[in-house]
Amino acid sequence: MENDSPSRTGHENADAPSASSPSELTESTQAPSRLAGGWGIALALVLLSTAAILTYRSFYTYEQEPLDPPPIMYVCAETRKTFQHTLQVGEKNPIESPFTNKRTGFPAEKCYWTKDGKQKLIPTYILLNDFIGVDEPTICPDCGRLVTNHNPAPPLGTPIEDSTESAARKDAATAQPSEEKP
Ligand SMILES: [Zn+2]
Repeated sequence: MENDSPSRTGHENADAPSASSPSELTESTQAPSRLAGGWGIALALVLLSTAAILTYRSFYTYEQEPLDPPPIMYVCAETRKTFQHTLQVGEKNPIESPFTNKRTGFPAEKCYWTKDGKQKLIPTYILLNDFIGVDEPTICPDCGRLVTNHNPAPPLGTPIEDSTESAARKDAATAQPSEEKP
């Protein structure tokens, strides 16, 4: 140790005293920091790629999950009762109605109009005459308006009915089945 260091410094002092000793100093101090920097970058890369893989995986598995279509409201042509159903793969309209256990279920058309020209929050579900082979225009029993396939919603700016009105209607709708039961 003692022999080595003086000889080194002696040699370097002779060669280029002012330039080489600072360069060696900076090199010796930089060497570990460069290594640390390298490791740091490598670690960051590993972490980033892990995060990327995890994100990709979560997206991938999310996309892999079968996307269930939302349930659609149907009307039973025989009983005129509505029911919700999610159309299954390969299933065609009319679908089996839970009320008749026969294929009498047709997708309901929605009417959002009230009698006095306001917009409803909960629509009236209507069976189109077209579906059941009746050659007459379908008229909404609630508001008396014509109902067509892909019935358009009231235009933007149509005043929305009071929540009390819709609540009253909802009460009436929910009261109906309980009256029918006995
Ligand atoms: Zn209507």
